[in-house]
Amino acid sequence: MSEEFLKKLSDRQNRILRAKADFPIFHKKKEKRPLIYLDNAATTQKPRQVIESLVSFYEQHNSNVHRGIYRLSEEATSLYEGARRSVAHFIGASSPQSIVFTRGTTESINMIARSWLQPKLNRGDHILVTEMEHHSNLIPWQLVAQETGAQLSYLSITSQGILELENLEALLTPDTKILAVSAVSNVLGTINPLEHLIKTAHSHNIPVLVDGAQAVARQIIDVAALDCDFFVFSAHKMYGPTGIGVLYCKPEHQQDIQPFMGGGGMIEQVQEQNASWTEYPWKLEAGTPAIAQAVGLSAAIDYLQGVGLETIGRHEKELTDYALQKLTQWPGVSVHGPVNLTQKAGVISFQVDNTHPHDVAQILDEDGIAVRAGHHCAQILMSRLGVPATVRLSFSLYNDQAEIDQFAESLLKVQQMFG
Ligand code: PLP
Repeated sequence: MSEEFLKKLSDRQNRILRAKADFPIFHKKKEKRPLIYLDNAATTQKPRQVIESLVSFYEQHNSNVHRGIYRLSEEATSLYEGARRSVAHFIGASSPQSIVFTRGTTESINMIARSWLQPKLNRGDHILVTEMEHHSNLIPWQLVAQETGAQLSYLSITSQGILELENLEALLTPDTKILAVSAVSNVLGTINPLEHLIKTAHSHNIPVLVDGAQAVARQIIDVAALDCDFFVFSAHKMYGPTGIGVLYCKPEHQQDIQPFMGGGGMIEQVQEQNASWTEYPWKLEAGTPAIAQAVGLSAAIDYLQGVGLETIGRHEKELTDYALQKLTQWPGVSVHGPVNLTQKAGVISFQVDNTHPHDVAQILDEDGIAVRAGHHCAQILMSRLGVPATVRLSFSLYNDQAEIDQFAESLLKVQQMFG
């Protein structure tokens, strides 16, 4: 790409085109063909800036946090706590102390289910979820429901993969103890109307947990404006490292969350038979935390903000539009979920007639194209769609239209093979 060519492009196009160069995985030597990575909903690739932040932490600052009285440990602590500040700022939380570092979205939801909700649950209570939730936002609630005699109730979706909001009021009963909903579906790409859901639930005094796993890398999140009670996400889906995630909790619920795990770093005083806890959020971070990963998460936030979330969101929408134009008119292909771009993020699920999704994914892989096939940890949604599995494309800032053209060529091959 010549400098002259780049100068002619708009700032946004320019930033996006340059971004791919930041991701070493796309520049591996000795590859037979370039990687076309369309499985970003599973995990995103990592830019050099994030990888270098991890290397630099281990080379320059590695030490445990909150413990040592020496300079290196103070450096590590300051980086770790700096990451907490950066996360709080990123999602609009009023204080860094509202941020708990967890292993990821799954652990964050388990923490709320076990340590906040379970002690309040009684037989006959309801936990309201939706038919499009990832298993991470279903199984933790099922586990506490089974132990307490509570039940899950489901807000249904239309055949277009949109929440049936007209059914919401009837599900918000005095027995409903929480609404747990994803911001964006990992299968259909549906963008859920969080403001409406949260306002309506709150008008019945029902708290809301938002699973932001698929939202944080593509839209600006402001937890204070949303007024959600809990917001959870994973770093690895937003160009950050695996092994770290976030639980944001509104101040009014923080003191109600009992420690999920016990160990070092979370105590104030220990006696033979019991102990008292240190302050929130550290009382929920027992043991040595994922220090380098927190530093990597902070670097991922800097990276995302450097490119611009609006720029990324718009780029992904353009790619989604381009791919949908092909797929929705393709004989023998059916697309699940909304096709209206105001309701859809960069995730597309589809079916090819007479061909199992796994076969589609395998043949695409032979052409160097990585897509996901399966139930995507959303079996309730699969039964609602009436299919065992789908093929899923999910876009990111480093994808482009040429890759979608190559995917389309490969898909044609699949159809020719399976008649
Ligand atoms: N929720 C949604 C919507 C997801 O897409 C995922 C992962 O795909 C998860 C939760 C679970 O995230 P993790 O495995 O990082 O805990």
